[in-house]
This record gives sequence, C-alpha cells and structure tokens, in this order.
Amino acid sequence: MENYQSTEKLESFMNNLGFPSLRIHTSLNHFDFTRRARRILVIGPMGAGKTEYTTRVWRDSKVARTKSALVAASTATGAADRRNVFFVRPGLDTRQFHNCPPGSLPYRGGIEDLGGKISGAADSFALEALFKEHPEVGTWIIDEAAFFDERLVYLMAKESDERGVIFICPTLVLNFRRETFNATAKLLLEQATDIFPLSAYCDHPDCLSDGYFSYRYYLVDNIECPALYFDPLLIIGQTDLRHSEYEPNYCTRCEKHHLLPGKRYTYMALKPLGNLASAGDIAPLRNELAAIQAGSHTSKLFTMFEDYYLRGEKRNETMMNSLKVAAIAEKALLYLYTEANLISTDQLLSLVNELQLDRQYIRLRLADCHRSVAAL
Ligand SMILES: [Zn+2]
Repeated sequence: MENYQSTEKLESFMNNLGFPSLRIHTSLNHFDFTRRARRILVIGPMGAGKTEYTTRVWRDSKVARTKSALVAASTATGAADRRNVFFVRPGLDTRQFHNCPPGSLPYRGGIEDLGGKISGAADSFALEALFKEHPEVGTWIIDEAAFFDERLVYLMAKESDERGVIFICPTLVLNFRRETFNATAKLLLEQATDIFPLSAYCDHPDCLSDGYFSYRYYLVDNIECPALYFDPLLIIGQTDLRHSEYEPNYCTRCEKHHLLPGKRYTYMALKPLGNLASAGDIAPLRNELAAIQAGSHTSKLFTMFEDYYLRGEKRNETMMNSLKVAAIAEKALLYLYTEANLISTDQLLSLVNELQLDRQYIRLRLADCHRSVAAL
C-alpha cells in the first residue's frame, strides 16, 4: 500500500528475478506501521476508494498484531502501538451506517467489521477526549477530516510529534468549484507528511479518463443541470440520487466534463452589484435579482450566459441548463451575504420582503452553515 519503495530499488529487484526492464508502476505495499509520526492525507473525489484504502489499513493491522513482541518494539512509542487502529467520523451523523451492523464500516467493496473501534466525534475537542480514552491506539483514521474545525490539524501535529501516532485522513480537499474545500483542508495540506492522491473514472458516459473533481448538478426533468458557481458552498442533504430543482447530486468528473457555469458572472456582475449595495446603492442589485426571479431574459445573468454559452466560442448548451434550477435569486443573495459579506442583514431582509424570495430555502441554507436570521 505504501509508495516508499523507490522505483530504482524495485527495478533492480525485478532485474535480479530475471525480468527485463519493463515499465514499472508504483507498487501497492502493505501499510508500514513502523514509521512513526506521520500525517497521511488520502485525497480524491467520491468513488476514488478512500474508504477502501482505510479498510485495507485495518486488515493489515489485524495481520501485524499477530506478530511477536519483537515487532511491537518497532511499532510502538510508549503506550501507543501503531498496529492498534481506530476509525473516527466527523459529527454524530450515522446516516452512512444504515443497514450496517454496529461497529462496522460500509464501503463500496462490502462491509468491514471494525470490532467497535469506530466512533463519531462532533469536533476536535471530542476527538481529543477519544485520544485520552484510548492511549493504546497508535493509528487514527480521521474520515473526511476537512469537516472538522481547523484546530484538528494542530492537535494531530501535537499527538504525532509527542506520541509517534499516525493519522490517516481520507478527505475531499476540493469543493464543487474546484477550490480548496475550506480552511481545514488548506491546513491539512500544509501539515501533511504524506499524500496519496486517488482518482476515479470520470462519471460522464462518453469518457474513460481519470476524474479528480467533484461535480455538483441538479436533475430537472431528467436533464443534467450543472450547479452555478455561486450555488451555496454547503448544502446538507441526502446521498441518494435526487430528481429535484432544489437538491443537488454529486459525482466525479474529469476537467473536460466538470462544468462550472457562472464563475465569470459572479466576478464580473454579481460581486460588483454587491459592492454597490455595500456602499448603500441597493437598487441595481434589486433589479438584477428581480429579473432573475422572473426568469427574464433581461437579467445580466441570462444575457451573459446567452453571449457566452449560446453564441460564444465556448458554446455549450448544457451550461444553459444551469438556469433551470429553482431559487437562483436566493442563491445569488446568499452568496453575497454569507460568502462575500457584502450585504447586511437588514439589506437581506428587505430584499427578501420586497422580492418575496423563498424564505424556507434561505433559512435552510443559512442553517447548513450554522447561521440564522431571526426575522426571516
Ligand atoms: Zn470526462
């Protein structure tokens, strides 16, 4: 499973066995429990096998633990033996564990019984409590580590430096905008000692390339509608396929098939309108949101898309489908309020009232990022 064996060493080994010089790919060795104090990032989009990677570490640990005390000398630092593996998921959400026996982990290849060495942790403080509860554990698998608070990253550095503990973090690092997921993901990349990038096949039916990007799309009337760039960053929802104007789906795509309409609009038009509102001139933004809400072809959004995706060099009619989804004006406003911080709460409320925007949708998306506006 490990990459450390150098290509030259492997090549000379193969030559000694009488093999000619062939193209040698990186071997998948078993997990090395003797190397202490590592923070391993396993990155890749959904379907790339991140969970499968960790179940292999678990299975290797079962073999490693059957070895003699002589081995323990090289796998333990103090009380922590790196052959003792524990799996932690962010939050108390056990949705993914449905139809799966307690204490076990489902992945695409099946279900792995972790003998109860699995737990949820709401935040880095809960995680720290788990470390104290299980001083014998020397390898911690922190699933979707980017969903934890930033403090996690420094906590892992401290634990691995002081107690030789290994951390394995299977996580997304890019969001659907192909940007670093969040501040925790940035710090994880900065503080990692090893990185294993995994890819999955691009999900597009006409493509067999490697996919590295998470693609967000909606299915409206069974038509693929790519999410707009200013779609809310975090939408908490179901993992099964949704046919909905409101609830997105995710899959993995290569660069060519990862469509991201509206980035240009966001920076060329939407943010400048937010800047004007921030300076007190809210009318231009109100007009644009009203036009979007009415589905009018006079909105800057529509005219820019028309120029670019119907007439321009980058003609791509699927991009136009992104305008078939619901709550686009709400999304634009939420972007300016929660991400760009250009709209005050009073301005948000007055626009919601004047344009009779979908309060329920706005409330839900604010809740997704742990925010609320009382008067909504
Ligand atoms: Zn593709």
